[in-house]
Amino acid sequence: MAWDFSTEPEFQEQLDWVEEFCRTEVEPLDLVFPGAAYSRDPRARALADPLRQQVRDKGLWALFLDRDLGGPGFGQLKLALINEILGRYRTAPVIFGTAAPDTGNMEMLAAYGTAEQKEKWLQPLINQEMFSAYSMTEPQGGSDPTQFVTRATRDGDEWVINGEKWFTSAGARADIIFVMCVNGMYVVPRDTPGVEIQPYPALHNHIRYNNVRVPLGNLLGPEDGARVLAQRRLGGGRIHHAMRTVAQVKLAFDMMCERALSRTSHGKTISDHQMVQEAIADSYAEINMLRLLVLWTAWTIDNSSTQASRTQIATCKYTCAKVLRDVSYRALHIMGSLGTTNLTPLQQMWAGAPTMAIADGVDEVHKVTVARNVLSGYEPHPGLWPTEYFPAKREEARKKYASLLESDPFLAQWADRAADMSN
Ligand SMILES: Cc1cc2nc3c(=O)[nH]c(=O)nc-3n(C[C@H](O)[C@H](O)[C@H](O)COP(=O)(O)OP(=O)(O)OC[C@H]3O[C@@H](n4cnc5c(N)ncnc54)[C@H](O)[C@@H]3O)c2cc1C
Repeated sequence: MAWDFSTEPEFQEQLDWVEEFCRTEVEPLDLVFPGAAYSRDPRARALADPLRQQVRDKGLWALFLDRDLGGPGFGQLKLALINEILGRYRTAPVIFGTAAPDTGNMEMLAAYGTAEQKEKWLQPLINQEMFSAYSMTEPQGGSDPTQFVTRATRDGDEWVINGEKWFTSAGARADIIFVMCVNGMYVVPRDTPGVEIQPYPALHNHIRYNNVRVPLGNLLGPEDGARVLAQRRLGGGRIHHAMRTVAQVKLAFDMMCERALSRTSHGKTISDHQMVQEAIADSYAEINMLRLLVLWTAWTIDNSSTQASRTQIATCKYTCAKVLRDVSYRALHIMGSLGTTNLTPLQQMWAGAPTMAIADGVDEVHKVTVARNVLSGYEPHPGLWPTEYFPAKREEARKKYASLLESDPFLAQWADRAADMSN
């Protein structure tokens, strides 16, 4: 029997270690020195690097990568189970070497990089000696890549890139930027002359590429391969976001339940009010539906490929945004006034839901993908009536019993009555 929802005991031990480590080491660091895990300041690194080393010692560094690239080669399903824990803690993905946007860029390098490119960029990214960003969206419209115009032109032994990109996350602090041009994906060191970071927005940068010159060897994959590389990159990133969203909504749910049991109102605990019970029951169902969808998608990727799992990944993408919005809102609401403050994670979680519906492609575009792919497995019905039109189906079914209907008046009457009743 292949359908099995259990976890191997050895892997459960690793999950238990991750849970304990995040609770006792990562969370205190986040609470007392927020941002230390991202910082390059030597004093911050002195706090975060020993945690990274513990993760390495446990063989859990860069979980998303195969063994030959320095990761444990767990595959997506095990990664999903670990991300269900990491996603609860703000900087756990950085401490485990699995944080966006680097992960997607590393996956792209691992899949399409030459040996030289991997040595130059992949290893330093895996070791977090280098950080990267991904420059795809353009100011005139992000959802429709046919509107992108940024282009690289060959000039001798260099590519010259011209264009403008919008919302490049962490672009200003990246060492290298993966720039998607209409003719290829290029790796651009951020300090290359002509890379002009605009003042706004601060975290997700607006960047002008003004006659930016890079060596020919900075083209990643084929010249006409930008869209394929982008799909590969974004597909992986989306499922990782969905895995971490499961962690977030479980956290919101835990907070909702704890609160519901902790306060009284109008003579009973809040959890005894039926409308609160409905919020809990709906959230429980939605979280488990999302979780199973994400695990199934991860399993499918492991057993086929990211490309072959596009429909499921797209489904995860918009479903996680919706479940995050609904569950975090209910949890915030049941927390009352406290929920509206920044004294618990709920307000930030709820405010993050619209972001989840936009980043990595707006929900509408993913819904279109899902509908299109699903519909490709269907055909229009042949005649005037749908296939499930009862009178036509019954007529067909009666042929099977034709001799009985002719020879037995009792059965014939029964069949006629059944036909009349469904009118
Ligand atoms: C937090 C965050 C981080 C991001 N990081 C990066 C990054 O690192 N690198 C990068 O390149 N980009 C990044 N982005 C940009 C992101 O990819 C784009 O925001 C996204 O693709 C949408 O593009 P847009 O913002 O131009 O919105 P638009 O394309 O203008 O869409 C706006 C709205 O129009 C509607 N719409 C658009 N198209 C359709 C359609 N086909 N059908 C129905 N309705 C539609 C939707 O309601 C949509 O929300 C990030 C975005 C966010 C929010």
